[in-house]
Amino acid sequence: MSAPDRQSVESPRSCEIARLKQVEAQLQRMTRVFMDGADPIVIRDLEGRILDVNCEVQRVFGWTREELIGQRTQHVLPPEWHALADDVLERCQRGEAVRNVEASVRTKSGETVPILTTAFLLTDENDAPVAIANIVKDISRLKETEARLRQRNGEIRQFVGAVSHDLGAPVRAVRSFAEDLQLFEHELPDDRARENVQFILDCAERMQQLLDDLMDYSRLDRAEAPLTSVDCERVLQQALMNLRADILVGEAEVTHDPLPTVPGNASQLVRLFQNLIGNGVKFRGDAPPRVHVSARRDDGLWEFTVSDNGIGIDPRHFEKVFGVFQRLHSQEMFPGNGVGLASCKVIVERHGGRIWVESAPGEGSVFHFTLFAETPMAHEGED
Ligand code: ADP
Repeated sequence: MSAPDRQSVESPRSCEIARLKQVEAQLQRMTRVFMDGADPIVIRDLEGRILDVNCEVQRVFGWTREELIGQRTQHVLPPEWHALADDVLERCQRGEAVRNVEASVRTKSGETVPILTTAFLLTDENDAPVAIANIVKDISRLKETEARLRQRNGEIRQFVGAVSHDLGAPVRAVRSFAEDLQLFEHELPDDRARENVQFILDCAERMQQLLDDLMDYSRLDRAEAPLTSVDCERVLQQALMNLRADILVGEAEVTHDPLPTVPGNASQLVRLFQNLIGNGVKFRGDAPPRVHVSARRDDGLWEFTVSDNGIGIDPRHFEKVFGVFQRLHSQEMFPGNGVGLASCKVIVERHGGRIWVESAPGEGSVFHFTLFAETPMAHEGED
């Protein structure tokens, strides 16, 4: 037997030392990431008491580590957020990662800072729960920008409302003079003159329709009625009633999965469904239109889908179609004003959700929008 070689005798111990050094270095790196993290991080025990916080917590909220360690998060949350904090804690204890919850933190100087936080369970190498981590984002600047934008949008819509109202009178006058002329058609010099009068009437009618749509659009923001519990099955039925003539004439079939009840404004949601389903029926290809409405729960949100088998939309126009007066086709091909999807966007955003489309030319379109599943006070934001 040969003498044991030096290396193989020493290797278990030196390996262990090397491994420990590696672990230590890794721990140091992780501690640095934690302490110097760009966002406030709070580590809590499984009962929700704060074990540690990083430097950003003091910078953003003013509280020192010493003031926070051992406290519950309620200590720094205004009372209206306490129930939500309990709910998030419970869900983390069950192992759920709770993402992007909106809340507010009370700073040491007594101000309130809006935040977005993600909370999840930390486990050891055996997967046993050891603590709960909260990564917190200060969203005050985002909220300020959002408020400014909302105000600006409101002002623009008010302006649009005023303009469409003021233009209504001259348009009605043009229409009524043209109608008068039509009454005395036989006194008009020739067919060309008669055609021109008819043309003026058609244009005035179309202009009136545009102004009415614009007026409705401008009113969407003013309807700040409190959100009530709205059964989307009933909303859908109402939308289908309003569309029954188009569905009948187009030989369209509209099907749906069970739909939930959500907090919302019923008449605006009817309009939302009606615009999307109506477009599915209108922008048809050769086959009879087939529109399907469904909803799936995604954390604190419902994601609705309205899909059709129509002409589809080129991905280049996915943003454009949600703009006011933005259309991809001529009046002759498909009548419309280009206000429908813009209204859908305002309605969904007013409900705190998001709307988008997936499609390809000739492949049908799938419109998605999200709505909160519960009252917005206790909602979670989107990823
Ligand atoms: P309108 O229906 O009055 O034209 P919308 O604002 O509802 O206006 O839609 C804007 C444009 O987006 C439409 O003109 C059309 O080009 C496109 N579009 C909307 N919905 C669909 C759909 N389901 N399939 C294909 N194109 C669509």
